[in-house]
Amino acid sequence: MFNIGLTGGIGSGKTTVANMFADLGASIIDTDLIAHQLTQTGGIAIPIIADYFGADFINADGTMNRPKMRQLAFSDVAAKKQLENILHPLIREQCEAQAKAASGVYPIFVVPLLIESGDWSARVKRILVVDCDQETQITRVMQRNHFERTQVLSILSAQASRDERLAHADDIINSMADLSQVRSEVEILHKKYLNFAIST
Ligand code: ATP
Repeated sequence: MFNIGLTGGIGSGKTTVANMFADLGASIIDTDLIAHQLTQTGGIAIPIIADYFGADFINADGTMNRPKMRQLAFSDVAAKKQLENILHPLIREQCEAQAKAASGVYPIFVVPLLIESGDWSARVKRILVVDCDQETQITRVMQRNHFERTQVLSILSAQASRDERLAHADDIINSMADLSQVRSEVEILHKKYLNFAIST
């Protein structure tokens, strides 16, 4: 089945671009949202996390204790890996289920760390990179999240570089352009993707 993996660094404009594709009829499957839902009250990952890490990693309302887990994952590589081992297969399952049930003309998986997490590349037919320069990312994230420059730089250093990401791209959207220009680029790509979707 034809599908797209959409990626880009923090603040690059992934959500903005994904929403434009959704307006044109594509189904958007957001891996960040799925990861969040898995660790909300009643989420499938909650009992597994409680079993492995202990009940004190779950809040009274049944959500994962994010600050506590973040702190652990930051200081303990094995724990971080274990959390990924719990979440990644569940995210994959949910993605597949959502793609199967999707009614859009083709599915787009939004995967912030697509380049960084090897197996995604093999699971999508085309990789679409939402691209902008680092200074634009820094300005946007400082404004949107009220972060210090150093905070943004530390997040950026944990992600693939712009060049690494572009080296994997089948298609690129320049998100430094104004929004009407970005929309035009999205419309051109959407036509191309529709043709692929019909012929595969
Ligand atoms: P994150 O990785 O942090 O979830 P993202 O890649 O999904 O971010 P967006 O949330 O789409 O990025 O965009 C980040 C910010 O930049 C938002 O405030 C958005 O409105 C703005 N933005 C995105 N694209 C453009 C553009 N072409 N022109 C101006 N502002 C833009």
